[in-house]
Amino acid sequence: MSSIDDLLSCYLKQNQELFGNTLYLEKTASMPEQNDTQPEPAMRLSSFYEQIRHCEQCSLGKTRTNFVFGDGNENADLVFVGEAPGKQEDLLGIPFVGRAGKLLDRILEAINLKRSDIFICNVLKCRPPNNRDPLAGEIEQCEPYLQTQLEMINPKVIITLGRVAAKTLLHLDLPLGQMRNNTYLYHGIDTVVTYHPAALLRNPNLKKPAWEDFQRIRDTYLITE
Ligand code: SF4
Repeated sequence: MSSIDDLLSCYLKQNQELFGNTLYLEKTASMPEQNDTQPEPAMRLSSFYEQIRHCEQCSLGKTRTNFVFGDGNENADLVFVGEAPGKQEDLLGIPFVGRAGKLLDRILEAINLKRSDIFICNVLKCRPPNNRDPLAGEIEQCEPYLQTQLEMINPKVIITLGRVAAKTLLHLDLPLGQMRNNTYLYHGIDTVVTYHPAALLRNPNLKKPAWEDFQRIRDTYLITE
């Protein structure tokens, strides 16, 4: 008999001596509670939204117009993660609705995707004043929300848009050009790094490498034969 069998047999014997024929097992983190009525991702996400929409854990909670949770398909295979809401997003409470968002819509269309096929959100849920870069403390406060969203959706691939999202999820502090040709793992989920569409608007030379990234995403995650 193997040592595992020995241990199991010993445990069962002790258990029988203590509790008779009723078997008591300790609940551990690796033994999730059985629940036949697990809510669908959409229900879980919407109840998560209700839980956090009034967050004021960092100072951005006081200066935002709207909390920007994320938008799209809660069962999506692809989740896009940007940096933080901009002016339009803050006014409407929806991510990627300004010029950069419209460019992203066109890129998605070019690989046969619509916004309703994907889920999109940001590292920060509230706009930094004057679109300044997120502060390390703000990212630290807000990142657990993103982590929960990604756990609930559990996509096939996460696409980080821009350096802040890549650095936050992958803990890599490298120039984006060096990160973009690899596939990483974030809690077991494939993660691809590409440019933020706002960067493509500022520097059209980045459109070609960004298009290569989206072709790679299409060929790897969207074409199934
Ligand atoms: S940015 Fe995140 S942590 Fe800060 S107030 Fe908004 S939701 Fe809360």
